[in-house]
Amino acid sequence: MSQDTRESPQQHAQRRFGRRLREHILVEFRELFADHDDYEDDEGLGVHALLRDAVKARASDIHIDPFPGHYQIRLRIDGVMIDVIEISPEQGQRLAHQFKVLANIDPLPSVNCDEGRFSYDMNEQSLDLRVTAVPCVSGDKLAIRVLSPPQAVKEVRQLGIHHKGVESIRRWMDANGSMFLVAGPTGSGKTTTLYALLHELKLNDSHVITLEEPVEYEVPGINQIQVNPTHDLTFANGSEAMLRLDPDYVLIGEIRDVPSARAAVNIATSGRALMATLHSRDAVGTITALRNMGLDDYEISSNLGLVAAQRLVRMLCPECKVEDKPDDIETKWLQEQGREVPAKVWRSEGCPACNDLGYKGRLGIFEIWQPTEQDFAMILNHEDEHSLRHALIERGEMLMLDDGLIKVEEGLTTLRELLQTGMSLPGYRPQKS
Ligand SMILES: [Zn+2]
Repeated sequence: MSQDTRESPQQHAQRRFGRRLREHILVEFRELFADHDDYEDDEGLGVHALLRDAVKARASDIHIDPFPGHYQIRLRIDGVMIDVIEISPEQGQRLAHQFKVLANIDPLPSVNCDEGRFSYDMNEQSLDLRVTAVPCVSGDKLAIRVLSPPQAVKEVRQLGIHHKGVESIRRWMDANGSMFLVAGPTGSGKTTTLYALLHELKLNDSHVITLEEPVEYEVPGINQIQVNPTHDLTFANGSEAMLRLDPDYVLIGEIRDVPSARAAVNIATSGRALMATLHSRDAVGTITALRNMGLDDYEISSNLGLVAAQRLVRMLCPECKVEDKPDDIETKWLQEQGREVPAKVWRSEGCPACNDLGYKGRLGIFEIWQPTEQDFAMILNHEDEHSLRHALIERGEMLMLDDGLIKVEEGLTTLRELLQTGMSLPGYRPQKS
């Protein structure tokens, strides 16, 4: 057995990079705290240094985690949690206390979870921060989410959707009166995809209205309504009111329960084009999800227009990626999925440009499913998602994994990233042709 298969990716990184790993992250914060166990930060300099450093590292979340004997500072970068530095319990408690005061949370240790927000001005940019405090056995854990404004919204073709998929989306935009669902787990970039669509629709002469809970980003030129159950503005009566405004396209954030699923069907059956997100593993998984939310097969098959399933994977750092061969784990995984094993893949060494992480930025992996007559017949026949998935594979449709493999061969990402998204095909056994 080769050495590669015996060690985990973390062990591999440790062996390879040793203590150099991650020292490019939190430089300013490190200067204050590292090797100064007794540093008493009475002026709150640590808060400022941590926020500046975290934004520089493109972190979406900062975690201050209490453990027996130390506090651990961790950052989520490109969706992956990175342990960055340990500080003393006193320093950790003081830092947590300062963040709680800023966020208007009672700074005394509590038995309940608490949440607050604050704004922070940095380099002419205003950051919105949401702080969640959770009591743990060793002290208060703090999670700080950086609510950054959306990056310049991309056009649909810039999202990384393959040519045929973009064509299907354009066709859906031109034809009225069906549902376009964007499917994937939390944090898979669904909202970015929908907002890219909204921006394109805005360029047409069309009337677009959204009903969201909550409104995540404001899009100039589009009427956005926020669901507010305490004031009796629900999905049900909101969608009724919306139809009287005569929209061409309607976006309702997430279909998550019976009322939102019912609202979606009502809008689509009234001849409007409807966009929504949905939690599901892949494109055909949306059928199971919609059935579970009380829609019958007829309602699904007569209203479903298009489904885009997606995941985000990290992009290889262009500065330090090197050519390599797939290792044993990757080879076995691809064989189980019935896919050809590429002769050449890329891996990253880690360098200052990517904070020694080997990756920089993220990329979407897509599966665009435009149901055919055969698929609709199967839905009406109450066939399950496994049968539908099998039909797609038989037809040779490009699934998420296929799209991912193209991006691996182009050197944009790694097999390990694909493997970790869990986009494998349950129950699928390849048939030798
Ligand atoms: Zn690099």
